[in-house]
Amino acid sequence: KSTTNSTLSQTEDPKFSSPQSPPPRKANATLIMLARNKEIYQAISSVKHMEDRFNRALPSPYPWIFLNEEPFTEEFKERIRDVVSGEVEFGLIPKEHWFQPEDIDEKRAYRGRWELIMKGIIYADSVSYRNMCRFNSGFFYRHELLQKYKWYWRVEPNVKFFCDLDYDPFLFMEDNKKEYGFTITMEEFEPTIRSLWPTVKQFMADHPEYIAPDNAMKFISHNNGDTYNLCHFWSNFEIASLDFYRSEAYTSYFKTLDETGNFYYERWGDAPVHSIAASLFLNKSQIHFFSDVGYRHEPFQHCPQGVENERGKCSCDPDDNYDYTGASCLSRWEDVFR
Ligand code: GDP
Ligand code: MN
Repeated sequence: KSTTNSTLSQTEDPKFSSPQSPPPRKANATLIMLARNKEIYQAISSVKHMEDRFNRALPSPYPWIFLNEEPFTEEFKERIRDVVSGEVEFGLIPKEHWFQPEDIDEKRAYRGRWELIMKGIIYADSVSYRNMCRFNSGFFYRHELLQKYKWYWRVEPNVKFFCDLDYDPFLFMEDNKKEYGFTITMEEFEPTIRSLWPTVKQFMADHPEYIAPDNAMKFISHNNGDTYNLCHFWSNFEIASLDFYRSEAYTSYFKTLDETGNFYYERWGDAPVHSIAASLFLNKSQIHFFSDVGYRHEPFQHCPQGVENERGKCSCDPDDNYDYTGASCLSRWEDVFR
């Protein structure tokens, strides 16, 4: 029996002291999903997509955070634990971050809902949808489970990822000084945000110091800020910096928006709220179009074209692509750089 090296620790043993490859780089990032218990199978489907196309193959997979204003059921948690490849945490949203605040005039909110119902607007009558939009606008990044992270990737139940991602998008963001990333853009329903732009204009007048010198105003306004063109990044997909929301500019912006009560009197969406902030407070070079990420959220998808489709081994039809159709704003986005 050989005991030659038995007194050497592993680090002294020449067998083990050959130059070690450094541990693979990893970003301080989390995957995050807001979901209801009844969405369990839609949530699992999205997780499975994300794990199979990206997360599972990493040396150290990114953790997941699930948030809900009600406690997740044991069934939800167990089934999710079965399909994630790394760590997972389940968080309860504090009541004051979710529900319609006491100081909202319910009579006025009721009238606001009716106005949208009469116009046939989606989610017109839904208070819970408004809770969700306000939470995603101003509270998700304040949740205690997110405090330790710098980056997040927002995932919703029932979305699809079509292509293999052979690089780490968080490290891409970090290395290229990006703050906000998207895949699909579109126009908002005007009646849901009727007084959003006037509020933003007042905020800009009060706080010129927050407006980035090389901002993307051109994406959100055809007339240099006089009116809003309804364009926004579709926020059901986001890869972004939490520090962007924690900034003084965003904090003050959300406070101003929230004080109007219009998350309830109208139906302000988190997509236009995030997008306007990103377009004004960031330089345009800090916003990234993930053209190589094949992604579907019903009823639209972005399917990578040409070499990007091949490189990602994408499973989507390149002709089924929202980019330059319907109410997409992608050509507006490209105009920003012309
Ligand atoms: P849409 O994408 O605008 O059609 O809206 P969704 O119904 O997909 O909601 C957006 C996100 O918020 C999804 O992640 C939903 O699971 C989540 N969500 C919506 N309403 C609620 C709610 O009342 N409670 C919880 N916990 N999540 C919600
Ligand atoms: Mn959705």
